[in-house]
Amino acid sequence: MFTIDAHLDLSMNALEWNRDLTKTVADINKRENGLTDKPDRGKATVSIPELRKGNIGLVVATQIARYVAPDNPLPGWHSPEQAWAQTQGQLAWYNAMEEAGEMVQVNNRETLEKHLTAWESDSKAEKPVGYILSLEGADSLVTIRHLEKAYAYGLRAVGPAHYGPGRYAQGTDAAGFMGAKGKELLKEMERLNIILDATHLCDDSFWEALDHFSGPVWASHNNVRAIVNHNRQFSDEQIKELIKRSAVIGGALDAWMMVPDWIRGQSDPQSMNCNLEKMIDHLDHICQLAGNADHIGIGSDLDGAFGREQCPCDLETIADLRKLPVLFTKRGYAKNDIEKIMHGNWLRFLRRVWN
Ligand SMILES: [Zn+2]
Repeated sequence: MFTIDAHLDLSMNALEWNRDLTKTVADINKRENGLTDKPDRGKATVSIPELRKGNIGLVVATQIARYVAPDNPLPGWHSPEQAWAQTQGQLAWYNAMEEAGEMVQVNNRETLEKHLTAWESDSKAEKPVGYILSLEGADSLVTIRHLEKAYAYGLRAVGPAHYGPGRYAQGTDAAGFMGAKGKELLKEMERLNIILDATHLCDDSFWEALDHFSGPVWASHNNVRAIVNHNRQFSDEQIKELIKRSAVIGGALDAWMMVPDWIRGQSDPQSMNCNLEKMIDHLDHICQLAGNADHIGIGSDLDGAFGREQCPCDLETIADLRKLPVLFTKRGYAKNDIEKIMHGNWLRFLRRVWN
């Protein structure tokens, strides 16, 4: 079934993990044999050929670069200008993938419909995967004016925060409001019709953002707090508000967000019984609150700085997302609802925003 994945850090893998995503996952992992600089070496699950194999023809792909103040222990750049430059390198990689015929940017209604038709009718093995450009964490926008520049090269969604304190909003494990600068960012996003990604906003910033933004809102990769209690996850109140705002929430496949009591670097997917069905538990919770299946999709976050050591045990590569329709059927979901989950809800959202 045609599948949309609303959150993949593709260029980060290319440039920071030095992965050639035009290769198979097996080749990428073989090349990492013996490397120990990152915990997920040799455990990659994502590459462009695997996306094609899984019929994942459209993805939301990120630019991501954090700014860290001297007292911030998280990894990141020491100035916003450096962070901006990093995102421009990431953009250059997406552009190179376009030139190579591996990917194609989707940034409005016309390119969306054109891509969907081409994906369906193109029978050649190496058709380009569509991508919508999103910014995870807005730190790299040196000034608000940089957002217009980013819009011009195709940026269509922004998550103002990532982990920790940010320049425009406070993120996961941080606390506090967005403040004047954050609200200014939201205003500019509204003007440019840029989608607000509510993922990673801490509770204070989440509610402030929704109060001050009247444009389109989605949550590209977010699970639920009722199942795994952590500030990274949405409370039922937050989910209800997102439903009211016609949002779509993408289920993530990072093990610690899927099953309770996961200990990073120690727990393993098999013994924690972390499998693809666990994501369905989270998505089903959202459906119960909504009373329908109109507000969920997939935002896997696969290879978002973790690999097979920290993702569902029944997933070897991202192509295994194609196992999901059967699992939803087993849960009693109708075919029509499964189509919405695998692609229809994201498409409805995008067609509304880009009408
Ligand atoms: Zn994330």
